[in-house]
Amino acid sequence: MSELRDSLAVAVEEIAAYREMLPESSVGASATRADLVAAFPRSIPTEGVPLDEVMRELVESARPGLMASAGPRYFGFVTGGSTDAALVADVMTSGWDQLAFNESSSPASLAFEDVAGDWLKDLLGIPASASVGFVTGAQAANTVGLTAARLQVLHDHSWDVGRDGLRGAPRVRVVAGAERHATIDRTLRLLGLGESALELVPAGPDGAMDAESLDGVLKDGATGPTIVCAQSGNVNTGAFDDLRRICDVAKRHGAWVHVDGAFGLWAGASSNLRHYVDGVELADSWGCDGHKWLNVPYDSGYAFCARPEVHATAMGYTASYLSGQEEGRHFGGGDFVLESSRRARGFATWAALRGLGRSGVEDVIDRCCEMARRFAEGLNAIDGVDVVNDVILNQVLVRVGDEAVTQRIALKIQEGGDAWLGATTWRGERLLRISVSNWSTTAADIDRSIRAVANAVDQIRRA
Ligand SMILES: *Cc1c(COP(=O)(O)O)cnc(C)c1O
Repeated sequence: MSELRDSLAVAVEEIAAYREMLPESSVGASATRADLVAAFPRSIPTEGVPLDEVMRELVESARPGLMASAGPRYFGFVTGGSTDAALVADVMTSGWDQLAFNESSSPASLAFEDVAGDWLKDLLGIPASASVGFVTGAQAANTVGLTAARLQVLHDHSWDVGRDGLRGAPRVRVVAGAERHATIDRTLRLLGLGESALELVPAGPDGAMDAESLDGVLKDGATGPTIVCAQSGNVNTGAFDDLRRICDVAKRHGAWVHVDGAFGLWAGASSNLRHYVDGVELADSWGCDGHKWLNVPYDSGYAFCARPEVHATAMGYTASYLSGQEEGRHFGGGDFVLESSRRARGFATWAALRGLGRSGVEDVIDRCCEMARRFAEGLNAIDGVDVVNDVILNQVLVRVGDEAVTQRIALKIQEGGDAWLGATTWRGERLLRISVSNWSTTAADIDRSIRAVANAVDQIRRA
């Protein structure tokens, strides 16, 4: 046991030292994937080594390839770091190694999911009666939500997809905004609905679905089983679909509404931003991430469903085919997700929420938006640099030049180590994309990052 104690003590020291360095660390990695791989033997060594040696090799081999993405000056993708409370709970989760399949496999795992799930619904404005599956991320949450949707809309047209599959089934229409996230398309491939099930509603200049056009798109197609996929928080601009309008129109057509709110649903936790998700309670299912804006370690997402019995019938371990036999059963855990044996994800989410409290969550969300506005203002002040989106949330899109110049500037910034941000294609144009989603980002971090962009722009233009 003392060998384990010693190694855990080393691990704790390593983690603490790593995180203490994050505010000042260079953000990029200093080694490539190939560099790292080259340092290992090609085949598995015959003999094992003691724990302390495994630890030493692990830390030394990984360190040059680590990204300071948990730190305050990483603005790539929509990443978020992890709060100390969520980190500690996540370490405990590994130590306890619980099987969160069901109540008898781990009462604590299910209880923490119950409590954290209720708190999440309260914060996000999702009805208290909704079910919650703790999944790996928003891709999984969208897949779970659309699986429940597929089951119900086909059931409404007298088809049992659980029993009979899709062969011979009525065609399912999936109506989504032109600027939906790519995970929706992947989910449609996985579910056998296919990408050709998509019928697109045009998006406005900000990328939000043009709710005016939704009625027309729905009317123009067949009156078959229909799912409408809305979005809260466009991954480029941060724009929100008008959920109230969309739900109103969709319900009149008998459609199921799923909301992809990977990070944008967190607007519901802020009194300043809540109006963006007005009508959120009217949807049928929702996908959201914990590992993005709530700053829970990977992997953490939530699949909510307004109809727990549909959710459990679609995802449950044993098929029940909406027979009514599930009535009165207390669902939970493995009934709402893709996995049977799975990690106890409720602990880390609970700890993030307990550590921050309602006001702390609101502060994180509001502060990230304020920092995004500061970033945008600073960048706009640089000659020849333009912020192209309305910075209503935490996302900033920046024009610095043509495609080649943009690429070189992004690389220059990444190599400099002061900040890390990537590029995206928006409306046919290559732009820098900034997402401020880390709880620890300060005004000083933003100002340093603005200088890093200004310097990179200057150097590339002069080169
Ligand atoms: C990130 C994101 C997803 C996918 O979430 P993962 O956590 O990466 O699975 C889906 N939709 C939107 C809008 C996102 O921003």
